[in-house]
Parts: sequence; structure tokens; C-alpha cells
Amino acid sequence: MEVTNILGLDAAGLERFVASLGEKPFRARQLMHGVHQRFAGDFLALTDLAKVLREKLEASAMIEAPAVVSDSTAPDGTRKWLLDVDAGNAIEAVYIPEDDRGTLCVSSQAGCALDCAFCSTGKQGFNRNLSAAEIIGQLWHANRTLLAEGSNAPWVAQGRAPVTNVVMMGMGEPLANFENVVTALSVFLDDNAYGLSRRRVTLSTSGIVPAIDRLAAACPVALAVSLHAPNDTLRDRLVPLNRKYPLRELLAACRRYIPFAPRDFVTFEYVMLDGVNDSNAQARELATLLADVPSKVNLIPWNPFPGAEFRTSPRARIHEFQQVLADAGFVATIRKTRGEDIDAACGQLAGRVQDRTRRTVRIHTPGTRQRAS
Ligand code: SAH
Ligand code: SF4
Repeated sequence: MEVTNILGLDAAGLERFVASLGEKPFRARQLMHGVHQRFAGDFLALTDLAKVLREKLEASAMIEAPAVVSDSTAPDGTRKWLLDVDAGNAIEAVYIPEDDRGTLCVSSQAGCALDCAFCSTGKQGFNRNLSAAEIIGQLWHANRTLLAEGSNAPWVAQGRAPVTNVVMMGMGEPLANFENVVTALSVFLDDNAYGLSRRRVTLSTSGIVPAIDRLAAACPVALAVSLHAPNDTLRDRLVPLNRKYPLRELLAACRRYIPFAPRDFVTFEYVMLDGVNDSNAQARELATLLADVPSKVNLIPWNPFPGAEFRTSPRARIHEFQQVLADAGFVATIRKTRGEDIDAACGQLAGRVQDRTRRTVRIHTPGTRQRAS
């Protein structure tokens, strides 16, 4: 008999599962509450369930998050877990505590097939999509661990979970793993599970246009789009997916998303690469490009990783770029770099990927870069 991992089921999935055990639908809510709010690690701990049901669950189900391979904390409090997802693959989840919130950066794939020029995950190649249990398991694990250790975050003292915000900005392209990511998002939002509001859950995508529309229909959380360039020529080079979904189509999809967006705007991420995309002229071009999309721009100082061909823009350049955008009427923020001492900053997550794309061979062979599929 197949054993079901409860961590991977949303409300509908849990209802189907308890029905298959001959149980009433309210048992699904009890299970959800026990696993995602009380962080039970086994069914025996769920003492509000009848003994017979606990025995049925013991026989047919499990609660299993990816195992921790390593656990490191940076001087700024950022904490990174390397988590085993079988067959030699490991992914990373990063907890970023701030004064008023705790953000978990969650991975959606082992590696990434999209091969953006400046991204460490992309350079690792791609192995596979994470299951819903592996995605949800990251949030479950972080909350459970931080609570068990006695988190001293002020909101925890008020009875909230340590993780107050989730960003799908770890390893992988979340919209390339659509079904499992949407299942995970629905558990993040479910009042019987994590109960996060849509505005506290952000999905970052490099721009898979049809999937942006599907997300609007299925589970419209806050949307961040990795733009990085103000025109197609440069974006083709930095984000190869642009050759498939160019800027005109991408921005149209963003405009279509706005009515569903929990905060009425799309965030555009723009990684600052010295001498590549950071001139004042490019800032003005960006302002023109985004003129008719309700947006915020988040400038990300590029984080280095071994073997990369870029340098991060000087601080003064980033500030000037920001000023040009501000003068054009944009809200532009500069992302604080967190966790760089433990390689936990944006784009530094490499995990351990058994590459199936032969990317690691290709990047040493000029001229063989393939179009994104
Ligand atoms: N695949 C998704 C989400 C993961 S990447 C996406 O591309 O949006 C999360 C963010 O980190 C993206 O904006 C990405 O462009 C950015 N990023 C990638 N490599 C980076 C690096 N080395 N330094 C800073 N940001 C980086
Ligand atoms: Fe993949 Fe995002 Fe990295 Fe691009 S930036 S390679 S889409 S993880």
C-alpha cells in the first residue's frame, strides 16, 4: 500500500485522503491544524484524533519533510538549511529575521533549467521539480525548528508563527513547477494551516507568460518579475527565457495580473551588474518601459559566486540609478543583502544538483548555449 505524505496535501487533497480512509471531512481540518499549526511530527502526537484513526494514519500516511544536511547561521541572523531531496540532490531554504517579520525564502526545484547568466542556481543545471511536500516541508521545518528552539521574535511572543512572510525566491523557477507550487501556496494561505495573507506570500518568476495568467486564476499571490534589463537585446542575453517570452508579452501579462494582485502592483526585480545594465540611460529606458504598469522596482545588488563573469555595481551607481527612477515617479528600493557570509543571499543558492541538462559541460563550451524551452 502506498504511503501518503500528509505534508504535500492541500485542503482538497486532505479531504480526499480522509474520505479514502472512510472518515468525515472535518477530520481533514483537524489533521491540517495538527500538522501545520501544532507541527506534529507523527500521528501519535495528534491526541485530539480518535485512537482508531491515528492507527489508520500510522499505517497509510507519514509526515516527512526533507532531511537537514546542514544548518548555518550568519552573523546577521540569516539562517540557511541545506535539505536533502534524494538521489544526491539538495535544496536550500533561507530564514531572514527582521524587526517586524520573519521571511522564509523557499525553493521550488532542484536546480533551474533557465540558465540566467548571473545566477548560481542556473549554473548548477537542473534535476527535477520539487514535490508539494518538499516545498511545504521547507516552511513546516523552519517554523517547527525555530519554535522548538524557543524563537525570541516579538511576534512569536504574540502567538504567531516564526515565519510571517514567504518568498518563492529560492532555487528554481516556481512557475515551471506550476501544480506543486500552487498546492503549496494554497497551504501557505489556508487558515487551517499557515494562514498567511496573499500579500505576505510573493512568487518571483523570470517570466513564463502563460503561467502568469494561470497563477492569476489559480492563486494570485504577490508577484515579482525578474526583469534585469530595459530592452530585449540585453534581456535576451541575461535571461534566455526572454527569447521565448519577450518584454512586450511579459509586460502585457503583468498588466493582466494587476486586477488579481493583492497589492495592486507588480514588483520588478533588477539585479545591478556593473557596466552591463546600470547606466542612467538604462534607468530612463526602464522608466519608459514600465510607464504603464503599476509597479515597484527592487534593485538587487548582484551577489557574486565562484566563476561568475560579473561584478556588482558600485554603491553610488545603484543610488544614482534609483534616483533616476525616483525622478521619473517610480518607487524604487534597494534590496538589503542578507546572509552573504553563508552564501545565502539572492542568487547564491547552489544546493547540490545532479544536473541532467549537461549545463555544467555547456557553460565551458562557448557558443553552445541553448534557447530556453
Ligand atoms: N527563478 C525565479 C526565482 C528565483 S531567483 C526568478 O528568477 O525570479 C530570485 C531572484 O534572485 C531573482 O530576481 C533572480 O534574478 C535574483 N538573482 C539571481 N542570481 C542573483 C545573484 N547572483 N545576485 C543577486 N540576485 C540574483
Ligand atoms: Fe532560474 Fe531564477 Fe536563477 Fe534564472 S534567476 S536561472 S530563472 S533561479
